[in-house]
This record gives sequence, C-alpha cells and structure tokens, in this order.
Amino acid sequence: ESVLSQPTYKNNDRLLGGLLVAGFDEASCTSRYQSSLYRKTPVHKPSLYLISRLRNYEDLHKRCGPGTESYNTALEQLKSGQTIGSADCKYLVWISYSGLGNRILALTSSFLYALLTNRVLLVDRGKDMADLFCEPFPEKSWLLPLDFPLIDQFETFDHKSSHCYGNMLKNDVINASAELVPPYMYLHLVHDYDDHDKLFFCDEDQSLLAKVPWLIIKTDNYFVPSLFLITSFEQELSKLFPEKGTVFHHLGRYLFHPSNHVWGLITRYYHTYLAKADESIGIQIRVFDSRPGPFKHVMDQILACTLKEKLLPEVDMRDSVVTVSENPKLKAVLVTSLNSGYSENLKNLYWEHPTLTGEVVGVYQPSHEGYQQTEKQMHNRKAWAEMYLLSLTDLLVTSSWSTFGYVAQGLGGLKPWILYKPENEMAPDPPCRRAMSMEPCFHAPPFYDCKAKKGIDTGKLVPHVRHCEDMSWGLKLV
Ligand code: GDP
Repeated sequence: ESVLSQPTYKNNDRLLGGLLVAGFDEASCTSRYQSSLYRKTPVHKPSLYLISRLRNYEDLHKRCGPGTESYNTALEQLKSGQTIGSADCKYLVWISYSGLGNRILALTSSFLYALLTNRVLLVDRGKDMADLFCEPFPEKSWLLPLDFPLIDQFETFDHKSSHCYGNMLKNDVINASAELVPPYMYLHLVHDYDDHDKLFFCDEDQSLLAKVPWLIIKTDNYFVPSLFLITSFEQELSKLFPEKGTVFHHLGRYLFHPSNHVWGLITRYYHTYLAKADESIGIQIRVFDSRPGPFKHVMDQILACTLKEKLLPEVDMRDSVVTVSENPKLKAVLVTSLNSGYSENLKNLYWEHPTLTGEVVGVYQPSHEGYQQTEKQMHNRKAWAEMYLLSLTDLLVTSSWSTFGYVAQGLGGLKPWILYKPENEMAPDPPCRRAMSMEPCFHAPPFYDCKAKKGIDTGKLVPHVRHCEDMSWGLKLV
C-alpha cells in the first residue's frame, strides 16, 4: 500500500508538528506545505522550546534582515571599519562552499550557531543556493544582498586572511580577553583548519566572538557535535533538543524546502516509481575513487549487506520455475550513484531470477551523472532531488563518509545501514552496520581541552557525543 493511500497521511500535520509557520505564499514554494504528504507520520516531535526559539528567530530576522534600518546601520559600521557601541543586530554570514551535501550540513550548523548566539543568518547564494531552496524565514530574505561589501573576497578567504580569527590569534593581533574588536571577523572552519582556528570551540573565545557585529563563516563540516561540548551552550542545547540525535532532523526539515522545479523532479519521480511499492529501500552508493567504476568489490558489498540484513530478498539461483502470485508484493529499490553499473546489475539479478519470498523487486536510478559537476545547474538540482527521494524511502543503506547520505538519513529520520569503506579493493567484512543515530558525522572535530589546554579525546567526554560508525575520528550525536 502506498504512502499516499495510508490513512495517517490525511492527519499528517502540514506544519511538521509546529516546526513551520503558516502564512507563506504556497505557490512560490509548493514543497513547504506538501512535504508531509510524502512522509510517514513523524516519530520525533520538535520540543516546544525549539518551536518557540524558532519563532523568536523569525522575529529577529524580520527586524534585522536585509533592507531593514538595523541592517543598514550595521552595514555602515562594517564599511566604516569601526565597532561603535553594541550593535542592535549581529550577523552570521555563511559562505557557499563545497558539494551540496556538505553545504546543507554546514548551513545547518551555522544556523544553530546563529540561534545560540542570537545572530541573524545570511546566506551567500553562490552559484545556485537560490535556485535549489525556498526562503525558510517569513517576510525577509535569508539571502545576502549582492552588494554586500566583502562578497568579492569570499572565495579568497582562508586561514591566512588578515581577518581570520585563528590567524589573528596566531599573530597576536587579538587575544580572547580583548575589549576592542573589529567590525567583522572571518571564521575558518574548513577541514584544513589549524589549532588556532579550532579555538572557536572554546568558551573563552566565544565570549570574544560575541562582541563582533559581523561574523563570516566558511565551513564544509557538520560541526554541531562540538557545539554540544561548549559549556556555555550546553544547557540551551539540551532544552532545544531533549532528544539529542534529532538536531539535523528538525533543523534540516525547518530550513531546506526544495524549490518548485526541484519539487517537480521529486514528486514526478516519486509517483512514477515509488508510490505504488509496498516497501521502498534507498541505496546510496558513493565511491571515493578516482577511477570511474563500477567495481566488483563494491557490488559484492552491497549484496552482502542487503541480503545479510534482509533488506532485499534472496534470489533462487537454481532458476526453478515459480509461479508468481497474482498480486506479488512489490519492493522498490531507489539507487543513487554517479555510476549506473550497480543498479543495472541489481535490476538484472531480479529479472533473471525469482526471489525466494515471491516478492518482485523494481530497481530505479534517477540519474548517473558520471562525476561530480558542482558548477552545472541541473546537476545540483538532481543531486538535491535524489537526496530528498532517498529520505522518502522506508529503509536506507548509505556509503561511509558521504554527506549526501547524511542529508537523506537526517531528513528522513532514518537510521541507515552504513556500508563500511572498502580498503584495498576488498568488500569489508562485515559489509555494513546499522547507524547509532540518524545524525550526520562531524568529520574534522577538534581534540582539545580548552580549560586544561591540552589534547583530549572529545568522543569520550559525554555519552551523547561519540565517535562515528564510518569514521573513527569523527564525532556524532546519539
Ligand atoms: P559527499 O561528497 O558524498 O560528501 O557529498 P556532496 O553532496 O557534498 O558532494 C558530492 C556531489 O557529487 C553532489 O553534490 C553531487 O553533485 C555529486 N553526486 C555524488 N553522488 C551523487 C548521486 O548519487 N547522484 C547525483 N545526482 N549526484 C551525486
């Protein structure tokens, strides 16, 4: 029975349990109020406190967003190069950087940081942010105006920039207890950041940063787990997220509404290939190898995982003649991959042989783009549509290290089976394991004890921040 014919669907809350507000123009962003029609009844409810903080944020954004008097005043301050008194509104400008999955996670982390520090989040539109997503906040745009003074420098900002916080610390231009601060600072939280940049995650440094009117951030990481280790944020975070492993689940659903053309890609595909299935399984295949593939060891691993975990039915290799029942159960497998080889292989397997369970298995892959093409508009529209489609499946298998898969699992509220990263062209044994939570993994966390000023294993400090299943040095919330 399809999701759309389930009775729960009608009761589904179009505002996602209070996460969203009513009153947006529906035609300009169909997905915003329609997404609940495609999802199962949500298991995880946002806390009332999170909801009230989001409403406060929306008020702040309305009051301080682009075009407001407060925005113009703050902009004048930025242009003058001086910080005069305490500004009415403070800002966090997010620089568009890296692949789409990375961007979605980085932006979510930045929004949470803005929420915790009462800043207004403004989004550099890069090549295609405006094309892929609807506006998440009422009335005032989240997009950074194109005449923003520093916009031409975004690309060149790095850990050596003169306004880079870590670099300023390193060169003693500033120290964490300074009284006078410049009107803007650049936060370099990209995977190659150094020990000085990582001091961002210390309380003392946060009190300095709190004074800076404009913070500009570049990151390709989901740095939320380490925010949970900053003492001054701890209490607020546990009020916002009593269920700790749901941060991206809620914030992702709040922020990322596919734009109308992406929603078209999603819904047309869904109705054509997934809606009629009795059960759907998403398999996200991301192979970090410079050669094109497909690889036999990856195919072996996918089969070993899905069969062992009983996600897909075994086939009868003896090819005994089985009469298919008049109304066999239909399993739909949604494969996403840059390469078409894996789904071709699966499709053939289930055509050439009957299943032992009598089910029939349909295998579908929306695109096979060959390689990552971040600059092409349709390419990223498809990538976003595919992440979203994966999030609509009942069971999910993902690849290690891939933010593409993290986005799908988080939006879907799914604990995926993660395919271990193959080493030496061998299918790992065991091939996969179930994730502890649906949260993304922070790939480049700091390992530093700010108080003791020495190294420490940050994955062993509290029970809800642990090392990831797919990356031993990464951190994730559980
Ligand atoms: P990650 O590199 O797996 O962490 O994910 P990112 O989304 O950050 O970057 C990978 C990029 O490669 C995506 O944004 C897409 O542009 C492309 N890509 C990778 N896998 C797929 C896929 O299965 N389908 C599509 N359409 N694009 C993909």
